Formats: sequence, C-alpha cells, structure tokens
Amino acid sequence: MCEDLENVHIGLDDIDTGSQGCTTHLTFRVLRSIINQIPQAVFSDYPVLIRLNPTIPFKTRGNAALSFAVKLREREAQSLREIVLKEVTSYIADVRGAGAEPGVALLYGEVPEALGRLYVKALSDYVHRDYVLGVIKTLEGSLEVPLGYSRGLIGALAAMGASKHLRECTYELLSYRAGRAGGEHSVERCVDGESVKVMDESLRSYTFLNYDYESGELLITPSGPNPVLLGLRGEDPEALVRAFNMLRVCESYEGWVIYKTNQAVNAHHVERCLECFKPYQTGCVRARVVGKPLVLPGGDVLVKLGDRDSEARLWAVFFKETGLNKVAGRLMTGDLITVCGGGKYWEGRGVVVHSDFLEVLELASETYVNPKCPVCGHRMKSSGRSKGWKCPKCGFKSTSLSKEVVKLARDLERRAYRPRDIAVKHLVMPESRVGRVSDCSKPLISKWIYFNSSPLPSQAPRERLPPTQASP
Ligand code: ATP
Repeated sequence: MCEDLENVHIGLDDIDTGSQGCTTHLTFRVLRSIINQIPQAVFSDYPVLIRLNPTIPFKTRGNAALSFAVKLREREAQSLREIVLKEVTSYIADVRGAGAEPGVALLYGEVPEALGRLYVKALSDYVHRDYVLGVIKTLEGSLEVPLGYSRGLIGALAAMGASKHLRECTYELLSYRAGRAGGEHSVERCVDGESVKVMDESLRSYTFLNYDYESGELLITPSGPNPVLLGLRGEDPEALVRAFNMLRVCESYEGWVIYKTNQAVNAHHVERCLECFKPYQTGCVRARVVGKPLVLPGGDVLVKLGDRDSEARLWAVFFKETGLNKVAGRLMTGDLITVCGGGKYWEGRGVVVHSDFLEVLELASETYVNPKCPVCGHRMKSSGRSKGWKCPKCGFKSTSLSKEVVKLARDLERRAYRPRDIAVKHLVMPESRVGRVSDCSKPLISKWIYFNSSPLPSQAPRERLPPTQASP
C-alpha cells in the first residue's frame, strides 16, 4: 500500500549581512542537501523568491524572502527538519551576520489564507510584530519556528503565503560563486560581456534586464561582494537554462537554481488615496499636480500632488537616475497623473512617494495669468485678496481687471513612463516587460536546479544534473 506523503513548506529570511551571504544562497544549499540526503523527497513546484516592501529600513539589500514546498513520507520529516537546521546554523556561523535576525519556519499541510494576507501586507505596508504573532497563533499545531520569534519570521512566513497567492510571476535563475558563504568575494564577476550580449540578442523575448545598451553595463551581475554570481530573469524557465548555457563564465561556481518570483510585475502597486498614503507603504495614487515642480540640486524633481475636492497634499520625488525626473519637470498645475512607488517621511514635507512609475492621464491645456497693464503693457501684480491689481512699472491700479486665460503649449505625451533599465529595482516592471504574460503556473522542468560537486575554474560540465524532480 502507498504511504501518504506529507506536504512541508519551509520559509527562510534575514540570513545575510550587507556584504556577506545571501538568503537565496542558503536556500540553494538547503535544497541541495535535501535532494542529496532524501532522494525520494518530491518537489512539484519552483522555490519562491519574493521581494517585499522596498521602503522597510531593516532590509540589507533587496528585501528578499524565500520559501519552498517538499512532499515526503511522515517518517522523513524529522530528517528534513535536521537538514534545514544544520544548513541554517552552519551558514549563520560562517556569515556571522551582525544585526541579522534569521527567520526559519516549517509549516505542515496547506498554506492558509492568513499567510497570503501577510504576504500582501509585507509587500506593501509595515508589518508590526504583534500582527505576525497573531497570525502565528492561528497556526498552532502546524507551524514550527525552530529559531524562535525573530524579525526574519515576517519574511519567512510571507514567502510561504506568496507561494499560493502569487497572481503574476517571473522566473530567475540564480547562480552562486564557489567558496565559503562568509568568505571574501571580489566585487568583479568573471562573466564575458560579449556572451551576455549574444544571449540577449537571441533570447530577449523570453528574458529581461540582461544588458544595458545605454551604459554598456551587465545587468545580470550584482554589484556587491556577495555569493551571487549572476541572475537571469525571464518569463520561461527553459529559456533561462538556455540563456545560462550561452554565457561564458570564467570563474568557478557552486551551481544554480530557478526560482518563481514576484519580480518585475509591479506587485507592490496597490491603489491608495492621497490622504491615506503613509510612510513605509507602497502603492499608486491618482492626483492633480499642484504648482510648478521643484528641481532639487543634483536634478531630482519634487512634485506636489493634490485633489480638487480636498485640501490633502502629498509629494512625489522623481530621482535623476530613473530618468523620470525629466518627465516630472515638464508637469504643470492641473495635470492629472498616476504616481506609484514607496512612501518615506521627509523632514519639513511629510510623506514623499519615491516614484518608480508615472502615468500622465490628462494635460492641462490652459492656465490663468495676471492681466496686462492697459497703460504700459506690463504684467500687473495682485494687491492682495479682493484688492485688485497694481502695475509694478507705471503704478496704474485697477479693481475691474481679471486674470487672462492662456493656451499652453505642452511638450509631454499622455502615456506611462518607467525608470530606465539601469535604475529598475526588483519589484518594478521594466519597459521591456510591458505586455508580456506573467504566468505563475509554468510546470517544474527537470533541470530546475544544478549543483557542481567539484567547482571547476572554468565552465562546469552541464550533464551533471541532480536526479529529475518532476511533478508526482
Ligand atoms: P537579501 O536581499 O540579501 O536577502 P534583504 O534585503 O532581504 O537581504 P533581510 O536581511 O531579509 O534583507 O532583512 C529584511 C528584514 O525585514 C527581515 O527580517 C524581514 O522579515 C523584515 N521585513 C520585510 N518586510 C517587512 C515589512 N513589510 N514589515 C516589517 N518587516 C519586514
């Protein structure tokens, strides 16, 4: 008789420091150990890599959190638990992350709705410790938190919630450099730029953010000294493997794994109203431009947003590196726009949305200007509310003149504007993905993970793949 398989979900977060280690790397190692030590364990979907709220101050880099599900026999659950804990503790000892609050969670059975809601909140809002403790209480009997109630549990549980609640997905193949997780890695990755361009030309319709033709920079390699060698992002896992095989990698690597992600789909763009946008929240607001945009020293542009029906005001900043500053600088009073991004508190201004998307919906076509002096033709100045006008040149005064309507010549199109590729952050949809299908149900391919048993100083042989982990 067939023994029933138990479904175990594992969530991990907050394992790295700013420069050493990476939670995705630890996840790769945990997966490798499970596949090696419990070969009969069944994986039926990709591990999940989610990016959470980018405004959260505790993040070290991209606010990533990870989860995966495995089916095994009940009596193997104890070995699974031991493998996970052994890998986590040895990784933490190696990385010795100052300030990291590692989160590890094991959930037995199905992922409940409460975790899906936690994911949405952690993506777009601040999650208070009490909120998570409340969720944990509802999971008594099916949840284990072997490292206790650390901050990392927020991400670990949110990643589990995401596994069942993602609506739009992309995939990322992450490859890891050989050596200790906590060892000294150079910032330079040895990946041949020409091979990236060739791959991009051939697989551009299935991948994105490979190479920035404007600056000549590789977008697949991170900029810090962490264990990630490179990341290939795309819509189709098969295409990611093909893309990786087209690259000339000239440093040794431990292996790679394909994740299902919430990256590049603007998942954090929830609808918000002008007066309810708070610091540490993400979202989109539709509002009118109030006054002339302010150009800050350096080129960033601040735009005041308002509403015809209320006194509420909100600021949005468009940073120079995104290229959106140029569009924002051409906005005028009365324009109707949608702005998306993350809210931060600025001394003296209140909430400022750090914008990663701008859509111009309506352009003001006329404006009101002070009347001209009927004596000398100079523009008059207001003498104060209901006190009429005074000419600053000839001194003529009038209480009967009124403002003139002037047609505006606009050099702006009504459309959506997105950051330039080099400035696109994890959650943000780049221009090249607009209109693409974001399918979360791509079947698990047999080559979803690869580990190199003896990392070589050059391209590793491709045929040494782990046993097929196909759907049961
Ligand atoms: P890496 O990308 O290398 O994994 P990171 O940038 O993801 O690093 P973490 O080390 O995971 O940063 O730290 C983020 C911390 O913030 C985690 O403990 C996570 O649980 C917590 N966190 C994430 N999102 C929220 C949120 N919305 N509210 C409160 N805490 C959060």
